[in-house]
Amino acid sequence: MKWRGREQSSNIEDRRSQGGGFRGGLGGGPFGQGGGGFRIPSGGGRGSRGGMGTLIGIVVVLGIIWFVTGENPIDMLSGNSSSSGGGTTMSSSASAPTSGDQAELRDFVGVVVKETEDLWTQVFAQQNERYPAPKVVLFSGQTDTACGTADSATGPFYCPGDQKVYIDLSFYDQLRSQFGAPGDFAQAYVLAHEVGHHIQNITGVLPEFNRRRASMSQEQANAYSVRVELQADCYAGVWANYAGQEDLLDNGDIEEALNAANQIGDDTLQKKMQGFAVPKTFNHGTSAQRKNWFERGYQSGNPGDCDTFSGSV
Ligand SMILES: [Zn+2]
Repeated sequence: MKWRGREQSSNIEDRRSQGGGFRGGLGGGPFGQGGGGFRIPSGGGRGSRGGMGTLIGIVVVLGIIWFVTGENPIDMLSGNSSSSGGGTTMSSSASAPTSGDQAELRDFVGVVVKETEDLWTQVFAQQNERYPAPKVVLFSGQTDTACGTADSATGPFYCPGDQKVYIDLSFYDQLRSQFGAPGDFAQAYVLAHEVGHHIQNITGVLPEFNRRRASMSQEQANAYSVRVELQADCYAGVWANYAGQEDLLDNGDIEEALNAANQIGDDTLQKKMQGFAVPKTFNHGTSAQRKNWFERGYQSGNPGDCDTFSGSV
């Protein structure tokens, strides 16, 4: 990705110097959400989220699960065990920053987040709405969030309670070596996906998911969660389309994102970790689904084409 020298977001909250220590009360009421009626313009006139179900909250859910069990919330990208070193050696673009150069990595994140802000500001402006950009928190060790305490074992996630994306930059090492997803655009995809959850929080998808899952079985909630996650992947694809329009893509970037989507599909992860997959426990989508929805968003460039709530996915 051609990110060097580009403008960075002013919404990066760097807590890395706080190191481990920072514990204490959870911030204001956990899981509050920002409701609101903004709707992604949908290409074809279909409409309302009522029908499409609305979802959301996956993140909330995962946050709750994590909070209760200590398991990794949201985007359970961090799966401990796993992965014999990684096989998939993709031609990662040489410019992928590593955690060996934290300053560079921070700059990279700043640029990617800024590009997401530019995209979503445009999308919202089409409806005469202002885009309320999320803060993106960089931390190491552990940090407090409105969804509970996050630590390094926590994969990147979005917390609707405080409308912030959290990421420990060491995750990117894990993404490359443990999940077999190298490349700067794999890293960008992860951020764009989390920002996608923020969009869902604003459009009402997350809050509705959170409401409805209370009356669902675990299996139903998992299926609902998959639709939420796939929409976030689609939004990440829409962002990749935008990055292409801005001429930021290097050869191989889209392949890096698709490889990452493949590597973190539920079926692939479960097979790596336990040798077999249990579909009813899937809550992010299979590798094929994740690649497919990212690709859809990328081809279309229109978030209105990211309706993962009607029909099969
Ligand atoms: Zn997600």
